[in-house]
Amino acid sequence: MRGLHRRTILAALLAAPGIASAQGARPRAAPRASLPLVVLDPGHGGADPGAIGPGGTQEKRITLALALELKRQLEGQGRVRVALTRSRDVFVPLKRRVELAREREAALLLSLHADSLPPGQPPLRGASVYTLSETATDPLAAALARRENLADRAGGLRLPSVSPEVQRILLSLMRQETRAGSERLARLAVNALDGDVPLLQQPLRRAQFVVLKAPDVPAALVECGFLSHPGDEQALRRPEHRARVAAALAEAVGGFVGRRVAA
Ligand SMILES: [Zn+2]
Repeated sequence: MRGLHRRTILAALLAAPGIASAQGARPRAAPRASLPLVVLDPGHGGADPGAIGPGGTQEKRITLALALELKRQLEGQGRVRVALTRSRDVFVPLKRRVELAREREAALLLSLHADSLPPGQPPLRGASVYTLSETATDPLAAALARRENLADRAGGLRLPSVSPEVQRILLSLMRQETRAGSERLARLAVNALDGDVPLLQQPLRRAQFVVLKAPDVPAALVECGFLSHPGDEQALRRPEHRARVAAALAEAVGGFVGRRVAA
């Protein structure tokens, strides 16, 4: 299973005799010759400024500036296509951000944020990278599994019309693969950031972020520093610092996509 992309599994299952049925099983979309799609998700936006630093810096502006810089660098490398969940100062609901990555069959989703602590807390600083908590129940996948007509409801998923039991197995395989991909993406990001950007102690973390809950898109959330820390706030305001963060993340994305293509 290792190294196989989720749609490879599905394609194999769809092609297996006795599983692919002409009834209701839509043919898998033809493989696109184009490059893998990376979805960048600048946190917050519009009426939701996110964290606000002591100097008045709004998280939503930092995340958008960082996402645009990362997009520029990734497109310059020419190995991926890039889409943004927002490219302006607008509010986009979290679930919509996830849907966008799923609908477009993204190879990965990288959500960009800046952390903050309330006054009186120890003045933490540094970047960290989150994946979805493994102990989290997965209501999205559970809801998906319960749905009778999964293929029509599941966006990019093309599940054959098989029994609910087999659908559950397919989803479980897909989620295992997605989780492994997310962990690998997060490790690559931490390794790439290390040395170039101050890191939080134990920078690899897990939490139940809604934006990381797609069952079929590997995803990580980068907190690129603490806006509540004056040093981090000053750094994140500087385009040169954001370019350094973006370069590290571009390296991580390149590593992730490179091995996926090679697998
Ligand atoms: Zn945030």
